[in-house]
Amino acid sequence: MKLLRRLGCLVGRHERWRERVWRDGSFYKGICRHCRVPMVQDAKRRWHVDRGR
Ligand SMILES: [Zn+2]
Repeated sequence: MKLLRRLGCLVGRHERWRERVWRDGSFYKGICRHCRVPMVQDAKRRWHVDRGR
């Protein structure tokens, strides 16, 4: 596991991993390509960290 993370991740601006997006019900989900944090797309097509609910 990498200790060094991208600066964007540290400030909450994760980079969605385009090749790792899947559909979960009516939402698209994905992960950050640097730190693998789970992400979810909202109704406005903006990506957020998926905090579980
Ligand atoms: Zn990240």
